[in-house]
Amino acid sequence: MWQAEVRVDLEAIRENVAQLRAGTSAELMAVVKADGYGHGMVPAARAALEAGANWLGVCTLDEALALRQAGITAPVLAWLLAPGLPLYEGVAADIDLSAASVDQLAEIVSAGQRAGRVARVHLKIDTGLARGGATPDDWPALVEAAAKAQADGVAEVVGVWSHFVYADSPGHPTIDRQLALFHEGLAFAETYGVRPRYRHLANSAATLTRPDTHFDLVRPGLAIYGLSPVAGETHGLRPAMTARARVTLTKRVPAGTGVSYGHTYTTERDTNLAVVPLGYADGVPRHASNCGPVQLAGQVRTIAGRVCMDQIVLDCGDDPVAPGDVATLFGSGANGEPTADDWAEAVGTINYEIVTRFGGVRVPRVYE
Ligand code: PLP
Repeated sequence: MWQAEVRVDLEAIRENVAQLRAGTSAELMAVVKADGYGHGMVPAARAALEAGANWLGVCTLDEALALRQAGITAPVLAWLLAPGLPLYEGVAADIDLSAASVDQLAEIVSAGQRAGRVARVHLKIDTGLARGGATPDDWPALVEAAAKAQADGVAEVVGVWSHFVYADSPGHPTIDRQLALFHEGLAFAETYGVRPRYRHLANSAATLTRPDTHFDLVRPGLAIYGLSPVAGETHGLRPAMTARARVTLTKRVPAGTGVSYGHTYTTERDTNLAVVPLGYADGVPRHASNCGPVQLAGQVRTIAGRVCMDQIVLDCGDDPVAPGDVATLFGSGANGEPTADDWAEAVGTINYEIVTRFGGVRVPRVYE
């Protein structure tokens, strides 16, 4: 018998990937960083690959190595690398690495030499996000160094890539500006003979709404988990994660009862309270105090009082609720339960954060 669980519908991930794949002629990199946005990196990766994903994208070297340790042989790109990491382990494991500066490229090249392999590199250009990526001013030096490394046979420039600022707001002027800068960066690279097999720019939002940004490879993350980056649109995707728990205790309390720490909620009348064993240690944002929606006994109710470390309380009025009843925090919405989008709206965050938070260690993930 279970107490709380995060259910992950791998068939939904497969369907979402197949849908995204059908919408583009580019290859598809399933972004499975951050433990597959909370869905479990390896199972999510396997499901995505089964449905036609060609690549996997992760942030860290450790994530990339974990995919290899799980026996996954598909191409993997890792893109967030602090100086001094054992990058040679990545090169030896056939992991593509991103370079956004001449120094990063040099580290990757020497990692390749240590591993006795030609390092596979994706050069990242900053087209406006001001995060990872070489600025257009620094781009020529990076391209020049990469062209030299390629000519020397110590690196292969497999990709040139960038990342959007505002793809989740279709029509935002930065999208065209970034696209134009990306084209300029590619054209400049070509003058040095750097013609990567993979030019890639599109995250989920651009994959769904801007085919002109697909180039050779799209990099959706959120959409493969069935969530839409564009507010108010589902794009026909199916959310893969459900977070739910079984009521541990119910009790009848009188009107005027203060509930949970700080008594920020007081019952208005005699009522049934239900204790649900999920708290902020499990991923429930504490900001959901007095606003997070939970479905129990056929109704969506608002969390009563503060979210605790391990539990929340629901005020169920006169509805008959009993220990063991299933409370669903969010799911696909198909059975009237709240969705991760509803939670994001209630709590003032984005659906990405809601699902990623529920990838913790205490609540078991169950795959279906
Ligand atoms: N590419 C990069 C570099 C990312 O950091 C991310 C995620 O943040 C993605 C692609 C996937 O983005 P999304 O989940 O919006 O599709």
